[in-house]
This record gives sequence, structure tokens and C-alpha cells, in this order.
Amino acid sequence: MMERSELEGTLDRLLGPAAPEIGCDQCFEQLDGYVESELAGRDADVEFPGLAAHLEGCPACREEHESLRTLVEADRSN
Ligand SMILES: [Zn+2]
Repeated sequence: MMERSELEGTLDRLLGPAAPEIGCDQCFEQLDGYVESELAGRDADVEFPGLAAHLEGCPACREEHESLRTLVEADRSN
């Protein structure tokens, strides 16, 4: 959608290079490791910079994160 990408462009300019921004593809690739890191009690935000920020702003990936986390947690408790 055009409105969405315009908004993202504006956000990128506002945030600048100090805030690492990843896309859905990268987010998806790293989500496994991110969840593992979270559940292991490590600092997932440091290991995967930009991912938490992406989850904040991306409902689709947030949902993916939630369900992956639930899956991994259920797997671990067995
Ligand atoms: Zn996303």
C-alpha cells in the first residue's frame, strides 16, 4: 500500500541511522533465534538489534512472534 510505505519512509527519516530498522524478511529470518534468546534469558534486543522495534510497529510479525514463542515454550516444557 502506498500510504504505508510513505509512512515508513517518513519514520526512517525521523529515526535516522541510530535506530536500526529491519524489514519483515529479516525479522522472519531472525525470529527463531530471537525467541530462543528471549526464553534463554539472554538479551535478545542486543543480539538482534532492530527486531523488537520492528515487532512494535508490525502487527503481522508480532503475531508471528507470539505464536512462535508459544510453540517453543510448549516444546520446552515437554
Ligand atoms: Zn514485519
